[in-house]
Amino acid sequence: MPDLSTLRQCSFLASAAYAVVFLVAAGGRRAPWMRWWALSSASYCVVLLGYASLGEPMPVWAAAPLNGLLSLSTAFILAGVRSLDRRAPFARWMWAVVAATAIVPAAAIVLPGEGAMLAGRLLLALGLAVGMLAFGWPLAFSHASDGSRAMRQTAGMALLCYIPCYALGAVGEVVSARAVPYLALVPMLADQVLLSIANLSLLAIPGMRSERQLQEIALCDPLTGVWNRAALAANEAVLRVPGRVVLLIDIDHFKAINDHHGHGVGDGVLVAIARALQRGAAGDFVCRLGGDEFLVVTTADDAAAVAERLRERASRPVADLPPWSVSVGLARIEPGDATMADAMQRADRAMYRAKDAGRGRIAA
Ligand code: GH3
Ligand code: MG
Repeated sequence: MPDLSTLRQCSFLASAAYAVVFLVAAGGRRAPWMRWWALSSASYCVVLLGYASLGEPMPVWAAAPLNGLLSLSTAFILAGVRSLDRRAPFARWMWAVVAATAIVPAAAIVLPGEGAMLAGRLLLALGLAVGMLAFGWPLAFSHASDGSRAMRQTAGMALLCYIPCYALGAVGEVVSARAVPYLALVPMLADQVLLSIANLSLLAIPGMRSERQLQEIALCDPLTGVWNRAALAANEAVLRVPGRVVLLIDIDHFKAINDHHGHGVGDGVLVAIARALQRGAAGDFVCRLGGDEFLVVTTADDAAAVAERLRERASRPVADLPPWSVSVGLARIEPGDATMADAMQRADRAMYRAKDAGRGRIAA
C-alpha cells in the first residue's frame, strides 16, 4: 500500500503535466477555457505542496485555506466550461462556495479541546464535498447540445465521485488512522483515477464541440437550416428503405418572386418553406436539394395525405412575404432501387406532371 506522501507526489506530477498540456492547448488567447483548466491543475499542485509542507495531522486552521484553494481549483474547471459556452467564467455563488470552504472549517477552532479538532476535520471534508458537489453538478447533469455533453458529464461525474471518497477519508480519520489505515488514503488513491478522468474529459470537450460544428456546417443548408444534399448522401443507407416515400417539393415560379421582389424576399420564402416542412414532417428527413427544391423522405403509411398536408403547410401565407405555391412529386422507394437517385428521378417526373397539371398540387 503506498503512503499518503507518495500518492500526493503522483497527483502533483500528473497535475503538473496536465497544467502544461492545457497551457500549450490554450495557444495564447485562442482558447481561454484551456487557460482556466491550466490554472485549475496548477492551483491543485500548489494545494498538494501546501498539504505536504503541513505534515500529518494537518492543523485545521492551516488546512482550511488550502481546502479553499482546492475548491477554487475545482471552480476553475467550471469557469473554463462556462467560458467555452461564452458565459462569464465566474458567477457570484461560485466565489461564495470557495469562501465557505476556506472559512467554515477554520471557525471550528473556537470549539474547546478535542472537539475543535474533530469538528474541524469533519468540516474540512464537508467543505471539500460541497465544493465538488457545487462545481461538479452543473457538468454531471449538463444539457449541452453542442456535441460535448457526454464528456462534460464524465468530467462532472469524476468530480462528484470525490464526495464518497472524502466521506470515507473523514471516517478513516475520525475512527483512527491506525485502526483502518487505508481509509484515510481513499481520497488520494481515488485522485489517481479521477484526476485523469476529469482532465482528459475536459481536453475532449472542445474537440467534440468542434466536430459537431463542422458536421453541422458540412451537412446543413446555411440559409434554411435543414439538411443539405451532402446529408442526404451521408444518410442514404438509412433512408433508402423500400416502402418509404420520397417527396420532391419545388416552388412554383420562384424565379418570378426573385425578379419582382428581390433575392432577399426569395430567401425569406425559402426559409419559410423549410420551417413549414420541418414542422409538418414530424421527424421525417427534410433537406434542401439546392435552389428552390426540397426533399422529404417519409416513413408514414399514408404518404399522399402527408404530401398534401406538407404542400398546404409549405404554401401558407407568411406576413411580409408575397404569396406562393409549391408542387410536390411523390415516388415510393422500390426494392429494386440501387440508389436514392432512382426514386428521386421518379419523384422528379411526378413533380413535373404536377407542374404541367397547373402547379400548386401533388402528383404521384
Ligand atoms: P417552376 O415553377 O417551373 O419551378 O419555375 P421556377 O421559376 O421556380 O423555376 P426555375 O428553376 O427557373 O427557378 C428557380 C430559381 O431559384 C432560379 C434561382 O434564381 C432561384 N434560386 C436558387 N437558389 C436561390 C437562393 O438561394 N435564393 C434565392 N432567392 N433564389 C434562389
Ligand atoms: Mg421552381
